[in-house]
Amino acid sequence: MNSAVDTQALLEENQQLHAELQDLLEQARINQQIMQRHQAFDLRLIGSSEFRDLIETASLLMPNTFNLEIVTLALVDYAFDVRRILHDLQIGLDEYPNLLFLAENGPALPLEKPTLGPYQHELHQSLFPTYRPASVAILPLTRHQKLIGYLALGSAHEGRFTGNLATDFIERLASVVAICLENVINNERLKHIGLTDPLTGVNNRRYIEQRMQEEIGRAQRERSALSCLFIDIDHFKRVNDKFGHQSGDDVLREVATRIKKELRLSDSLGRYGGEEFIVLLTQATLRDAERIAERIRASVAQQAIEIAGADEALQVTVSIGAASQTPPDRSMSADQARQKLIASADEALYRAKEGGRNRVMLAG
Ligand code: GH3
Ligand code: MG
Ligand code: MG
Repeated sequence: MNSAVDTQALLEENQQLHAELQDLLEQARINQQIMQRHQAFDLRLIGSSEFRDLIETASLLMPNTFNLEIVTLALVDYAFDVRRILHDLQIGLDEYPNLLFLAENGPALPLEKPTLGPYQHELHQSLFPTYRPASVAILPLTRHQKLIGYLALGSAHEGRFTGNLATDFIERLASVVAICLENVINNERLKHIGLTDPLTGVNNRRYIEQRMQEEIGRAQRERSALSCLFIDIDHFKRVNDKFGHQSGDDVLREVATRIKKELRLSDSLGRYGGEEFIVLLTQATLRDAERIAERIRASVAQQAIEIAGADEALQVTVSIGAASQTPPDRSMSADQARQKLIASADEALYRAKEGGRNRVMLAG
């Protein structure tokens, strides 16, 4: 063997080693990037304090981070608790097609350990209503030994999730998501409690004032009609005096329920003071407001209210003042406009009382 060949062989070997080293470095760089992405994802997930954050992190950031076609989050919410809170807090479910709610008698999904494997239509369709993946990982989310939902990961590749894949990483992901989910639900629940009247379960004054402010702003921008009803129970003091405070409370609850029955989902009802309620009617003119107010008045007056412990049902009536801002006055701040709207409805209510009660009067 001569030295020229020797040198040539060494050179080639060297080049090959160099190429391998480049590959390794490239691999290390990719791994580093993946790790950074995972870390950024973990931070976003753990940092979610609101429902919106968590859903967005799960359904948008997670597919990107883990190279998946779809991720859905399905919640156990058989009593509609969570949905009611989200609705009251104005979180529209339509915005989040990847947030699902499990049917009480749905297919038998895993209860403890994640299951990985090919997509099976009968079993998995409810978790993937908009996209049919080839392979899936179904992660039960549990807190305090109770199932609270599923995180469902879907890939277009058959080989991505197979039964013999190690699940440590996925199990860890499931426990982090479960804690985050419990945390955001508790946060939203707290927020909701702060905006709810404990006696009647309808919104409180703080909520209705906040909501009015928002709706006035929207009505001003969109030049849409907005109306408000001020409702006051007639001679309510007599109910308390004659039947006791407890019966008074029962009447308040029943009146709130009857008002609510006459409203659309986009309207809001709040207990404004002792026996006073405010209803905010979006996209409603004064004529619409009058019609709805009349329906509410009739529904309270028509049927006497049954009271536990009382011999006879109580005949209760309400007086209602209606006011409207059409077209919305853009020169006023939302705060001024709110005060003006309430004052006009209050003034109309005063006339309804003066006029003999159990009636609807319009502002202006
Ligand atoms: P009017 O027809 O003029 O409205 O007469 P009214 O008796 O309804 O009016 P008034 O404002 O004098 O009385 C309201 C009463 O509501 C007085 C108060 O004791 C009672 N009230 C306020 N908050 C509550 C509550 O949470 N529960 C009960 N049971 N009563 C309440
Ligand atoms: Mg009153
Ligand atoms: Mg009253």
